[in-house]
Amino acid sequence: MKWWGWGDPDKRIQLATEAVAMLRSELGEAEPWPHAGLIEVVVPEPRPLPRTVADAVGAGAILTGREHRVRRAVGRGYPDLVRLRAGRLDRAPDAIVLPGSTAEVARVLEVCSREGIAVVPFGGGTSVVGGVEPLRGSFDGVVTLDLRRLRGADVDRRSLTARLGPGLRGPEAEEALRAEGVTLGHFPQSFEYATIGGFAATRSAGQASSGYGRFDDLVTSVRMTAPVGELRTIDTPHSAAGPALRELAVGSEGTLGIITDVAVRVRPVPERRRYEAWMVADFAAGTEIVRSLAQSDALPDVVRLSDGAETRANLGLSGAGSSKRALHSGYLRVRRRARGCLVVCGWEGERKAVAGRRSLAGRVLRSGGAAALGQAAGEAWERSRYEAPYLRDELLDLGYMVETLDTAHTWSRLGELYDGARAAIGASLAAEGTPGLVMCHLSHAYPDGASLYFTFLARRRPGAELEQWRAVKAAASAAIVEAGGTISHHHAVGRDHLPYMQAEIGELGIETLRAVKERLDPAGVMNPGKLVG
Ligand SMILES: Cc1cc2nc3c(=O)[nH]c(=O)nc-3n(C[C@H](O)[C@H](O)[C@H](O)COP(=O)(O)OP(=O)(O)OC[C@H]3O[C@@H](n4cnc5c(N)ncnc54)[C@H](O)[C@@H]3O)c2cc1C
Repeated sequence: MKWWGWGDPDKRIQLATEAVAMLRSELGEAEPWPHAGLIEVVVPEPRPLPRTVADAVGAGAILTGREHRVRRAVGRGYPDLVRLRAGRLDRAPDAIVLPGSTAEVARVLEVCSREGIAVVPFGGGTSVVGGVEPLRGSFDGVVTLDLRRLRGADVDRRSLTARLGPGLRGPEAEEALRAEGVTLGHFPQSFEYATIGGFAATRSAGQASSGYGRFDDLVTSVRMTAPVGELRTIDTPHSAAGPALRELAVGSEGTLGIITDVAVRVRPVPERRRYEAWMVADFAAGTEIVRSLAQSDALPDVVRLSDGAETRANLGLSGAGSSKRALHSGYLRVRRRARGCLVVCGWEGERKAVAGRRSLAGRVLRSGGAAALGQAAGEAWERSRYEAPYLRDELLDLGYMVETLDTAHTWSRLGELYDGARAAIGASLAAEGTPGLVMCHLSHAYPDGASLYFTFLARRRPGAELEQWRAVKAAASAAIVEAGGTISHHHAVGRDHLPYMQAEIGELGIETLRAVKERLDPAGVMNPGKLVG
């Protein structure tokens, strides 16, 4: 991963000249934004740690070098990238600890609890909510526990389950599963770098969640090493033995312990994968179609409805020579719909089942007024599904702010949430003197509602990028709370959404989570300042 941005340092997806022109005409000319050199990055000096920490894992499994600390000092949200680009990090871990076994994890947590050292679990470091920020809390030191060495994979082909180590990155887990003819079907946009432990700790949702389920739907059991011992649940398809303790670990964001082992449901590698795109008149009509699909058991495995602004920008901003341009031809064919909205649908599974489900969904789409753009357009989306974060780096280079946020609501109130959040983001950007482009897509659909994912772009305010971001984030979050939506459908809470947890789960809910934390982590060393503070 690039130390200052996203992805493979050798991979670059250049914006087309027309895309740059479109940005300049819509958002205004921005001041280019080069990133600092690694050598220039200012990081606080590490505090010395007691010898007992190294003794817990062996000296070879502790990293204290500057680059290692810079690489684990932030996640990959916009404010993280601002600080990396500026070369100013207010915090960094004092050391990175790389445990090689569950026993070593337990020893590190025991030592850190005794010595008063905060512990920040780190998977792929792709958090966009400040989840891996090395907050010291009231402690003297902070270590980042990088879990990359915990990478077992064991498939039970007969039960269609697998036990996976938390340190496996998305592609590594898929490779191990595919060797046994199965797949997890969990493909978030951060797939290339995010890990199994991170997926579980944040209740992640992949792009095919409508078909395969969100990650938390896939988890059947977990093992979590807390400072006071191991919390584990048994591997059965279901249990009525009280509240599901598994759910305490899933979504705990490293505040209760380290998830060391995750059992998941898997499926045979699909025989057939079919992606296609459709165009609908507007976002409201598209929303009605997706609701009908969800409520008539006709949802494709991937369903993604872009609003008008996102449809236009997706076509305009795709990389130079990008496969997404193949969308253009189909789009132009139905251009009579001047302000259309793109719907991408994907089906995966046995050939006959895919054909049947596709024809069922096609009927619902057509009866809602959608026009087919064809397979090439859908496949173009599929091929470019991991490109957006690479394009984000290009846009930042040009001097534009790019941020995303996710929420969800019931069908009855989804329109209110969409209007409220969109208006709040737009108004806040305008008030900053940087009118923006606010885009949204609906995905992760359920019979009772769906998620909304906003992306917004604006000229950055040079030198005041974080203030600009804070203002928009606060306005958007207030609008989400006002409309009764969730503060996060899948990005989790971390540090950034902490102020909104009261609205989400109430004071008693927060106290309940804190009581659980006090039992599992009495010294409070696990990821301080996240989830519930
Ligand atoms: C470009 C981009 C696209 C994204 N797209 C999606 C998307 O499509 N869907 C989605 O759900 N999310 C998405 N995210 C958010 C992020 O990728 C997810 O939250 C992901 O699950 C984090 O995994 P990770 O391994 O990187 O975890 P990290 O970022 O390392 O950690 C996330 C949180 O989990 C904790 N944690 C990590 N591992 C463990 C463990 N083993 N035990 C206990 N706690 C642990 C950390 O302390 C932290 O609080 C995206 C992020 C980026 C930057």
